[in-house]
Amino acid sequence: MSISKNRQTGCNLPEGMRRYYLDTMGIQLWQSLEKQVDVAKTTAVQDRDAIWQQLEQAVSSCSKCELHQSRTQTVFGVGNQNADLLIIGEAPGRDEDLQGEPFVGRAGQLLNAMLAAIGFQREQVYIANILKCRPPNNRDPEPGEADACHPWLQQQIELIQPDVILALGRIAAQRLLKTDQSLALMRGKQHNFAGIPLIVSYHPAYLLRKPIEKRKSWQDLKSVRSLLNTDGSST
Ligand code: URA
Repeated sequence: MSISKNRQTGCNLPEGMRRYYLDTMGIQLWQSLEKQVDVAKTTAVQDRDAIWQQLEQAVSSCSKCELHQSRTQTVFGVGNQNADLLIIGEAPGRDEDLQGEPFVGRAGQLLNAMLAAIGFQREQVYIANILKCRPPNNRDPEPGEADACHPWLQQQIELIQPDVILALGRIAAQRLLKTDQSLALMRGKQHNFAGIPLIVSYHPAYLLRKPIEKRKSWQDLKSVRSLLNTDGSST
């Protein structure tokens, strides 16, 4: 991954921290994601660690939507904060809500196996969800919940600056690509999220119900692998 992730900033207050404080104060900054990514690129390592800690802290006390009332805990995200590959699922389920980590149930075990198939250990990638809190009875996220939660994920993306995003399942892909297309239409092509190549694939929970689709999922994983290879990344 490029060393620009760790470059020093000229500002006194790191941009991510400034935005965190403004966000905490309820002040919304309107600027393009591309510009924010540029700023994040120039943030020093120690600043980045502090920003990650503050971000996780802020998420843990988030009450921007109703889901905070029913959650056991927030599920922030897990993995390598400098990952080349960012995986984004839908929302925590029961196991994730209890353990505070994404994809730890049966779907998570399958995800780990899928990652291993393209040469990644779970710890090498970063895993997050559209929502940080479990929707009751694992219902689909509501648009307002996804909107409220998006700034958290967006800040994670800006910090990680992945080379490739893998969106798992229709809900995550529709949300990230701002479309209502079917998964079938979104699969099999390279999309773009703020300049980052994005591949859509089946959600592992769906693959557990429909193992026959694993063959197509393998095609998607190979696309991810080849995008990472052409990027020249080391993993
Ligand atoms: N399904 C998801 O989309 N995310 C998780 O973290 C677990 C199951």
